[in-house]
Amino acid sequence: MPVELSTSGPPPLEFSSNVFSQHDLGPERDIADKCAVFGIYDGGGADVAEATAMGLFALQHRGQESSGVTSSDGDTIFDHRRGGLVAQIYDETVFDFASLPGPIALGHNRYGTSSRKLGPDAHIQPIISGDRSFSLAHNGNIPDTTALETFLDSKGIRNPQDNDTEMMHAAVAYYVSRGASLEDGLREAAPLFTGAYSLLAMDNERLIALRDPKGIRPLSIGRYNGAYVFSSETTGLDIIGAGNLRDVRPGEMVIVDQGGFRSEQIAPGEQRLDIFEYVYFAHPGSNLLERNVSVVRGRFGEILAQEHPADADLVVPVPLTAEPAAIGFHDASGIPLKQGIVKNRYVGRTFITPGEKQRSNAINQKLHAIPEVVGGQRVVVVDDSIVRGATSRNIVRMLREAGAREVHMRITSPPIYYPDFYGIDTPRQESLLASKRSIEEMRQFINADSLGYLSLEGMMRAVGVPEGMLSTSSFTGEYPVDIGRRREEVVFDPSWQRS
Ligand code: 5GP
Ligand code: MG
Repeated sequence: MPVELSTSGPPPLEFSSNVFSQHDLGPERDIADKCAVFGIYDGGGADVAEATAMGLFALQHRGQESSGVTSSDGDTIFDHRRGGLVAQIYDETVFDFASLPGPIALGHNRYGTSSRKLGPDAHIQPIISGDRSFSLAHNGNIPDTTALETFLDSKGIRNPQDNDTEMMHAAVAYYVSRGASLEDGLREAAPLFTGAYSLLAMDNERLIALRDPKGIRPLSIGRYNGAYVFSSETTGLDIIGAGNLRDVRPGEMVIVDQGGFRSEQIAPGEQRLDIFEYVYFAHPGSNLLERNVSVVRGRFGEILAQEHPADADLVVPVPLTAEPAAIGFHDASGIPLKQGIVKNRYVGRTFITPGEKQRSNAINQKLHAIPEVVGGQRVVVVDDSIVRGATSRNIVRMLREAGAREVHMRITSPPIYYPDFYGIDTPRQESLLASKRSIEEMRQFINADSLGYLSLEGMMRAVGVPEGMLSTSSFTGEYPVDIGRRREEVVFDPSWQRS
């Protein structure tokens, strides 16, 4: 008997493309990469591309749009670069590591924002010079590229399609094509890199690491057997069993070649690591400035519980980033901790598209509140940050729909008043919830019974390094690397400082 097709029934499911494309900041953002770099030089001559891909796998959270590896056997630079996730791109059923031979390799995971319009195949790193003499990969962002543009224009070699990393590469290539060694080319071009960069470059003889004079983005050095390893985070060293030697210092260039390991301070350095690495970006298994990220997040939660206690029955983390902080909140408050919100494991890190409908769709496909846990309860919900406010608003709504009696939102960072220009996705200032509203107005917007943010002082105490070692620009508007003409985009309001 033929099956009757019903014409009525529930409306078709509307999937937000956001969930599948892993991220979106909408059309309003400039190019800004928050990425991962990983590289190995094996003095013993073993092939290292596969271990490089392993390192990139451990750093997947830093970029989910595309990934690439270049390697050298001493004569030729080989590459494999694709859109997609690490597990797909280097899957042995579709890819053979024999095509990436040699004891020198570097890799990159990209989280680009503007290239969404161009697709995941645009701007994939590492970038390889036209003559295939060297490759370069970069984590960070050059907020104002005037110096690079002026230089490239003066040489008649500027490509207007290039992003910041491609311009950096072109500037180095200019010197290399005139006979400079890769390290001299980097040293010459570095003053044009007016922003945040943790970069790796390689040719057929050497692997080089270079970090901006403020060390805004992390970059660690590791060692295993006869090899030196560079990784955006220590979790990348752990996965291949490498020991953690130390960080590349702000303003330092490290060169590894046949002669071993050499270091040179090419500019005076002063450590200002972006505190947002602890808040959201870095992996909980990583250590930054010798502090474990998960332990720091736990302390965020403990201090938050002291600063903004709540009369409640349950502490519920927003998965995944806020989980250690929720445990800390529970430890300090004695309020039971339960998994009241679950996350679909196969959805990557998402930022929410503009448009109310798409926003709730994306969040509902990613997160789900459990009525059996939160029903009838007074819930403290802990998240790492509020940017536009879409996530918090939807989380409060889903908890209420699941029957929560009260919802108290606690955030493990201060209000974000200022956009980021160093490579993390905080959109234009007018899109930041806190830039337009008081705390009470934000509480109303997200429809919570109460809202509490961790103070800047509390946050510093939790990290436990002198405030001068960190960049707090999103919270304070103090940009340690000059943002140049981008300052015109920012309103500096003294009433926001340290509130
Ligand atoms: P909102 O919905 O308020 O715009 O975004 C807040 C959420 O975005 C939080 O749950 C936080 O975990 C996440 N988040 C914060 N910073 C970033 C970022 O730089 N990139 C991405 N993808 N997510 C972020
Ligand atoms: Mg989140």
